[in-house]
Amino acid sequence: MTFSHLADYFEKLEETSSRLALIDILSDLFKHSSKEEIEKIVYLTQGRIAPFFEPVEIGMAEKTVAQSIATAYDSTKEAVLKLYAKLGDMGLAALQLSSKFKIQNSKLTVGEVFDILVQIAKTTGEGTVEKRQALFTDLLKKLDSSSAKYLVRIPLGNLRLGIGDPTILDGLALAKLGDKSKRKALEGAYNRTSDLGLIAKALFSAGLSAVEKLQVVVGKPIRSELCERLPTPEKVIEKLKSVDVQYKYDGFRVQIHKDGDKVSMFSRNLENMTRMFPELVLATRKQVKAKTAILDTEALAYNPQSEEFLPFQETTKRRRKHGIEEMAKKLPLKAFVFDILYKNGKSLIDSPLVKRIEILKKTIKEDGVLMVSKTETVDDAKRLAVLLEDAVSKGLEGLVVKRLQSLYEAGARNFNWVKLKRHSAGELQDTIDCVILGYIFGKGKRTAFGAGALLVGVYDELQDEFVTVSKIGTGLTDEEWREIKVQSSKFKVQNKPSRVNSLIIPSVWVQPKIVIEVLADEITRSPIHTAGASVNSASHSGLSTSGSKTGEKEPGYALRFPRLVSFRGKDKRAEDATTVKELVEMYKQQGKQ
Ligand code: ATP
Repeated sequence: MTFSHLADYFEKLEETSSRLALIDILSDLFKHSSKEEIEKIVYLTQGRIAPFFEPVEIGMAEKTVAQSIATAYDSTKEAVLKLYAKLGDMGLAALQLSSKFKIQNSKLTVGEVFDILVQIAKTTGEGTVEKRQALFTDLLKKLDSSSAKYLVRIPLGNLRLGIGDPTILDGLALAKLGDKSKRKALEGAYNRTSDLGLIAKALFSAGLSAVEKLQVVVGKPIRSELCERLPTPEKVIEKLKSVDVQYKYDGFRVQIHKDGDKVSMFSRNLENMTRMFPELVLATRKQVKAKTAILDTEALAYNPQSEEFLPFQETTKRRRKHGIEEMAKKLPLKAFVFDILYKNGKSLIDSPLVKRIEILKKTIKEDGVLMVSKTETVDDAKRLAVLLEDAVSKGLEGLVVKRLQSLYEAGARNFNWVKLKRHSAGELQDTIDCVILGYIFGKGKRTAFGAGALLVGVYDELQDEFVTVSKIGTGLTDEEWREIKVQSSKFKVQNKPSRVNSLIIPSVWVQPKIVIEVLADEITRSPIHTAGASVNSASHSGLSTSGSKTGEKEPGYALRFPRLVSFRGKDKRAEDATTVKELVEMYKQQGKQ
């Protein structure tokens, strides 16, 4: 396939705001792809040249890309940057400047363009910037305007297609298995490997059975298992009977992979964090008694002398790209290891929790940095309540309780793992992670900052779309408005983004990228919000919450008295926000059915 043909598909995807249409276009694109190029096409559709978790960056900042555009189209860097500032998108700047050159019938294939992007990424040493610029300019000179528009967006990390991983899986399923509902058949492999390109390649080369055979690989992150919520120790014991109880540490989820001396680490949203935590890399080499292993851990700043866990605000200072070594000395992290998913060439995700913990204890040599999380088996609500008090008194968030015989269900959030925090039953148990979808201009003082209320939503994982749950106007300081303005200005778009489902039309739409943590008094039903509205609520909750029949229109769910707690942009992607299913569960737990 030529890159120009791929750009035609990108154009169609960008113009489409219906998710079903997106899947059809993707499926058509994939049907026209060969088994040799499908992997590259999938990565490019994600705006990448490697899976998300590989730290391969093309390494060209805005100014470098602008210089390449200037050289390719007889302009100057300053003129390109000026046009970029006016249009708000470097892709559109390249489109406009290239159009007078009328380059047509570009024969460059997807493979050729991809390989040059990889070459640019791999360029190192003296004169790197110039070499990268020259290679990129050369590509631009050979591509038509529409291709140039999409090419320049790739190194800048904003392809603007608005496609999530589940939608790509739907597209692959429709193209090769004839029905998007067969996505389920691909999901297991996705949860085990997090690598859409690898899955596409296996599917195109050797069919579904090859995808199903894809196993856990050291170096490719496993999608994290997550927790459900229950309000009280009594409810936990009533539902789960006997559980393994662990502290709920409030730090970063870090999945540690050890392959001989090579150690890599991934965040919950699949970001490669190996460079950020050098002390954990050293500790893994020293303390893990296995040639290969994958560990599930929570890393946080901890003072072993006083047995003090430092608050998340402290730990989060370690999320940085510069001054890493210095900060590692100032604020060293410990990793509490609570699970082992792989050891010496063998996946453990299909072994029961009790067995995994037994193996874990034998694998870690205690030496102060990696610490095996304490566990206790409990079948009595009173004991569980005591442990919860103990955790809270130590400054922790609460407990995580786990079904003793449960397997590791990659990517799942169900009652195998339940988080228990200290709150009395009846109140809203937990904060909600919302995604900013737009803002609504206000009157008066706030207009100076460009916002009066934020339109926020949650993630509907079945539909792979974002649905609205609240307008947040009060409780934000001027400083927070400013911060929101700065962050969201990068993602402002003219029309409703394709994966947003909203009855409310804000003054400005924002691509679903920014996650904020919100506290609310309660969850109520509301006809103006789309979260869990209509037929969706029946399929998410498994029952019709207002007594109407499945399929009848039902109102959505909304937050009452919402207020901003924190920005979660650094450790959460939009798809990691609270889901509709969780929201419905939380609503039910309020006892308002
Ligand atoms: P929250 O915002 O309340 O932390 P979350 O949406 O980030 O929730 P949850 O699934 O609700 O994630 O809580 C699970 C998280 O708790 C895990 O992702 C992990 O980072 C952390 N955690 C801390 N201690 C443990 C433990 N012992 N077992 C599992 N997860 C733990």
